[in-house]
Amino acid sequence: MTSRYGATRSEVDEILTEWGEPRYRADQLWDALYRQQIPLDEATALPRALRDRLAGTLPLALASITEVTAHDEMTTKWLWSCARDGAQIETVLMRYPERATVCVSSQAGCAMGCTFCATGQAGFERHLDAGEIVEQVLRAAHASPQRVSNVVFMGMGEPLANYDATWSAVERIHHDLGLSARRITVSTVGLAPAIRRLAGEDLPVTLAVSLHAPTNDERDALVPLNRRYPISEVLDAAAEFAGAKGRRVTFEYACIAGVNDSRAQADALGRLLGAFTGVGGAHVNLIPLNPTEGFGGRAPLAPSLRAFADRLRVHGVAATVRRNRGTDIDAACGQLRSRVAIPPVPPPSATMAP
Ligand code: SAH
Ligand code: SF4
Repeated sequence: MTSRYGATRSEVDEILTEWGEPRYRADQLWDALYRQQIPLDEATALPRALRDRLAGTLPLALASITEVTAHDEMTTKWLWSCARDGAQIETVLMRYPERATVCVSSQAGCAMGCTFCATGQAGFERHLDAGEIVEQVLRAAHASPQRVSNVVFMGMGEPLANYDATWSAVERIHHDLGLSARRITVSTVGLAPAIRRLAGEDLPVTLAVSLHAPTNDERDALVPLNRRYPISEVLDAAAEFAGAKGRRVTFEYACIAGVNDSRAQADALGRLLGAFTGVGGAHVNLIPLNPTEGFGGRAPLAPSLRAFADRLRVHGVAATVRRNRGTDIDAACGQLRSRVAIPPVPPPSATMAP
């Protein structure tokens, strides 16, 4: 059965035509779901009986297990159970004064096995379908007082290992929700052939590549996929993407004290990315490590993070230190699921309602 947000416009048209509904009903439904971004139940332009019938025919794909909002009310995280099979996935909404970003999962689990990542530690369960990905954005939109302006594929899973569903979700988020492609970021651990394929698509999404170390030996220890696609191959593919799309590539670097945060490593990374041939150069996003149960490391202290960023700048590489959002609610990749024992929280306060 197609899910509510898995159904395309032509499938919705087909269902309503079959039911003998006038054509404008499909317009009203589509307008409510994707332009107004309200739940079906609140789409009062449609008669109640029709809403009920639609709810039965196009069920939601995700049921909320927990919804947690951080103390500052700017970050909300959901743990969902997929209606299809009970697989658990996570979504995070991060609000800022000028934008609202939804971080979506592309897979239940992940097969890539990065040692410091809670999702990688738990292993692969299955791919999500496009409807399950698109629904994460809309369910977050329902809870957000601000319109969702950005989507990042930085939740659970490796989006480029689930290429077709990821790309179909990207197209729907662009065409149906109206987000510009540059506000959609696909983050990858470095599947070089899939990065090249992405370079051939017509929508110029933003590409983020998870690097985490400046040399192959060091990266092998954190990112097992590096043995298959070593740094030079990943950078070549990223440069091809930058050239094809005219978009600067972001490199993510999870900073782990005593593992990849030394001055020598900052210099090596600066030299490596200073020589990156991609259009617009390289931008490094330093992410302080979020501790996970299966990995002993910890984040460097703030002054060493700043020093690391400064060294990169000396080499002409743009660098920012990402502020950790919602650490009080485990708002990092795979971390809510790994602590399902968190007690359910009270419903979000009135200010969070749409
Ligand atoms: N699979 C993709 C996208 C999901 S992970 C990828 O790896 O890029 C999104 C980002 O979160 C990646 O940069 C990943 O390395 C980072 N990440 C995962 N676990 C983390 C942790 N415990 N602390 C900090 N960053 C982490
Ligand atoms: Fe998968 Fe990304 Fe986690 Fe690596 S960091 S295990 S690729 S989700």
